[in-house]
Amino acid sequence: MFQFSSSPVEGHMMSDPLLISSIIQYADRYHPDTEIVSRRVEGDMHRYTYRDCHKRARKMANALAALGIRPGERIGTLAWNGYRHLELYYAISGSGSVMHTINPRLHADQITYIINHAEDQYLFFDISFLSLVESVAPQCKGVKGFVMMCGRERMPTATALPNLHCYEALLEQHDDDYAWPVLNETAASSLCYTSGTTGNPKGALYSHRSTLLHSYATVQPNAFGLSSREVVMPVVPMFHVNAWGLPYSAPMAGAKLVLPGPLVDGNSLFELIEEEGVTFSAGVPTVWLGVLDHADKAGKHFTAFKRIVIGGSACPPALMKGYRERYGVEVIHAWGMTEMSPVGAVCSLHPRHAALGTEEQQQLREKQGQAVFGIKMKVAGDLGEELPWDGKTRGNLLVKGPWVIGSYFKGEGGEALQNGWFPTGDVVTIDKDGYMQITDRSKDVIKSGGEWIGSIDLENIAMAHPAVHQAACIGVYHPKWDERPLLVVEKRPGAELDKQSLLGFYEGKVARWWLPDDVVFVDALPIGATGKVLKSEIRKQFKDFKLSAEPTRNG
Ligand code: ADP
Repeated sequence: MFQFSSSPVEGHMMSDPLLISSIIQYADRYHPDTEIVSRRVEGDMHRYTYRDCHKRARKMANALAALGIRPGERIGTLAWNGYRHLELYYAISGSGSVMHTINPRLHADQITYIINHAEDQYLFFDISFLSLVESVAPQCKGVKGFVMMCGRERMPTATALPNLHCYEALLEQHDDDYAWPVLNETAASSLCYTSGTTGNPKGALYSHRSTLLHSYATVQPNAFGLSSREVVMPVVPMFHVNAWGLPYSAPMAGAKLVLPGPLVDGNSLFELIEEEGVTFSAGVPTVWLGVLDHADKAGKHFTAFKRIVIGGSACPPALMKGYRERYGVEVIHAWGMTEMSPVGAVCSLHPRHAALGTEEQQQLREKQGQAVFGIKMKVAGDLGEELPWDGKTRGNLLVKGPWVIGSYFKGEGGEALQNGWFPTGDVVTIDKDGYMQITDRSKDVIKSGGEWIGSIDLENIAMAHPAVHQAACIGVYHPKWDERPLLVVEKRPGAELDKQSLLGFYEGKVARWWLPDDVVFVDALPIGATGKVLKSEIRKQFKDFKLSAEPTRNG
């Protein structure tokens, strides 16, 4: 794939492989008593340490071998963020098999497709997914057995699942005398599928090396800034791009981990943040809207909570401001993709930005940020020509780096790269300082009379209106301009708002011809399996929508 210039002289340093098992070994050796706290699916709290986690992961590695699981084979998991899931992250990858996390919020047909496509040999699942697993199992003939992630007392007395094991019973049967194998660092470690909003999901197969390099990159101060002084709560699920790598980077940094289990509503998360002294968290915007709403309504304040990384979709400026101005919590905007392990860019401000006014700082924070070290970016036009970094010229974002996909699992979708670069499908500008801003996903772009209208800008303005909970902007057919923007809005419960006053709110904020041609109020916007607003679904819903307003675009 790549061509290297050769040198007659090789470096003389060891090529000790970068392996996932080394992370939990390190955490056990240097942070043995640091806690991992989990809200269990069973309803109670569970606490133990990195040392305990390492011990149980070794027992599980022995159990996997006893089940006949061999290196390279894929093991599926359907589980929330919790300690048993964490143990599997290390036991499965560390022993040389491939950890395949499955998003339980996907449609059952997609789950079946993914399990079969990955050729999962065993399926581990939380008790809350028993009926889901029972429903897909008959279509997943390649799965040799199932493991329910619970104690004996929770095992079902009757089930149609063949070869069903109990997680805790497996651990009881095996000891912790296990030496992690020295694998090739380029060996496959884990597998995540894209959420497949268009077509079937495609697999991104990570390696030990890509995972370790991604972890080194994300712990850095200008990225997530993790250390043993942080208490890290990944709200982003461990089944969504490995919770953005936090199950690896937090132990690498020796940070306390708080795993919220299935309860990710505003109230439950707020409570956990306060009870466990969480300082750092990460997740998609919708979750953080819930926490902010809860804190606002309950008139509560955060004690130790300092920073949230928000990504996955554009973070509404009103959300950032709400946390910073009312609670002193910094929202850090980040960008990534399943195909990038996932982190590609993080928006950190530098000392020179302290001199900027509040509004200018805010505008900078709204960008998705600078590439983290290791990721290269370029912006290209439709013919592949490179475009300038001037903060204005929009183009397709291409990336390169050691934790970026080279090809999809099983070669699905053909060639993934264009001249060695991965086309992200995001439409962006990059300013002279290298801050990248997403204006759209290429499939969400609205083209009116041949010119781009930034749907994210229009959504952000709507979401700054106090009566708006969430908003999505899509292009709908227009006989003269091809497409015009339609704004679909979910109001806050009990809020009063009409179309005219919302459109009036855009006054002076965007060019007149960008104004949405119409506004539709809905009870709830559709949310996809990864917690993001599903624009593809909204487009389907409004595909025959007839614009009622006079076109706003003049000229
Ligand atoms: P999918 O949503 O396709 O399943 P991902 O979860 O990997 O897959 O999403 C990747 C996409 O999410 C990016 O290509 C980009 O369009 C969008 N995205 C991620 N982070 C941000 C962000 N901070 N702002 C805007 N869009 C984002």
